[in-house]
Amino acid sequence: MGLVVLATSAFASYTVVPGRSEPQQLRWKDGMVRIAISKSLSEQTGAIKSGSDIAVAIRNSLLLWENAADIKFTIEATDARNVSPSGVAGDGVSLITIAASPENVLLFTKDPMAESARTRVFYNRRGFITEADIVLNPYQQFSTDGTAGTFDLEATLTHEIGHLLGLRHSSVLGAVMSEGIARNAGGVVASDRRIDLSDADVTAARELYGFVDDVSECCSSISGKITQAPSKTPPKALSVWAEDNTNGRVVAQAETSPDGTYRLGGLSAGLYTIFWQNLDRSNSTHLGDLGTVRLSDNEDRTVNGKVAGTSHDLALSFMGLDSQLADAAILIGNAREYTVYLGGRDFELNDLRIEFNSPYFRAIPGSIKRHDLGEKLSAVSFLLAVDEEVPSGVYSLFLTGNDGILAAMVGGLKVPVRPNL
Ligand SMILES: [Zn+2]
Repeated sequence: MGLVVLATSAFASYTVVPGRSEPQQLRWKDGMVRIAISKSLSEQTGAIKSGSDIAVAIRNSLLLWENAADIKFTIEATDARNVSPSGVAGDGVSLITIAASPENVLLFTKDPMAESARTRVFYNRRGFITEADIVLNPYQQFSTDGTAGTFDLEATLTHEIGHLLGLRHSSVLGAVMSEGIARNAGGVVASDRRIDLSDADVTAARELYGFVDDVSECCSSISGKITQAPSKTPPKALSVWAEDNTNGRVVAQAETSPDGTYRLGGLSAGLYTIFWQNLDRSNSTHLGDLGTVRLSDNEDRTVNGKVAGTSHDLALSFMGLDSQLADAAILIGNAREYTVYLGGRDFELNDLRIEFNSPYFRAIPGSIKRHDLGEKLSAVSFLLAVDEEVPSGVYSLFLTGNDGILAAMVGGLKVPVRPNL
């Protein structure tokens, strides 16, 4: 094979105004949010590709969240251009802007060419958000037609609106709230551009705002505390996530607090397996599960656990198709078979296997190939077979050995909603 290219995703960021300790959860008090759209979005500066359907991108990104949880947006146009300066409170107007003004540009001084957008959130003493300003990086290029090398305007806005609502980054790779938003790759067709919230995004929004519809009741939750056996001290930050036992979809994810507590809210009734994995996986991986939980409607279950088993030096950090490795999810299209590449450290086990917690995916036996990329990076490829009945959603990939599960790419396989099915 040729050289593996490390395609690093650009990060969109989230700034909570400093100076006060941040409450566990930030939210708008009544789920009603007024957003002012700066006229800078319609000025032809080249930052947004001319001919882009900006109004549709804004409307769609707001609708996705309105359809997910009890949230209502109203939008208006404004001449305002600047993010409110850092402080106890802003001007009370939640702005979306792309103006290259000094105030806005200041947000991107660290790495002007990497970040696509930033959202600055203001909140009061009771943890209610009072204002959130979204600044699209005026030095980037955005589009709504999949142009290679540009950021998708709708995808970027959907992610930033999530921050505006109080959501933090998700370690579910296929989630809209995943930290890495890649620029458009080439050869994107219109149907692949479809932006969908993943189940993990929806449950995170419902945890904050609730949801009522005609057919389902919401919401149930699983919460508890994970301690470090035998010391009883809380472990380092863990990512805790739930997968639906019927199909293997990743449905919710949260990080443990410093005291080891976690909460997965916004869930529907169902049977779920709860997994944990250390959040910082740069040096080692440690993964386990808290077992299976059956949830009824409107039920709050407590599931405590211990960090068990040993950690491994192995690190699974990247995945990709066609020898392009990135820390982002792989998009599963209409094909039934994919050559998937995995990158990381210390894959040199003889008993390495690739497994799924979903009946719709399997690694073709004997297809694992090792690739030599020097001392620092381990890489393998394998043939992934996808069942054509696979429901839309995001799914995890697990590396396993004789010792059990070693590492997971949580939500690393994304099956988009196919409108014709
Ligand atoms: Zn972000």
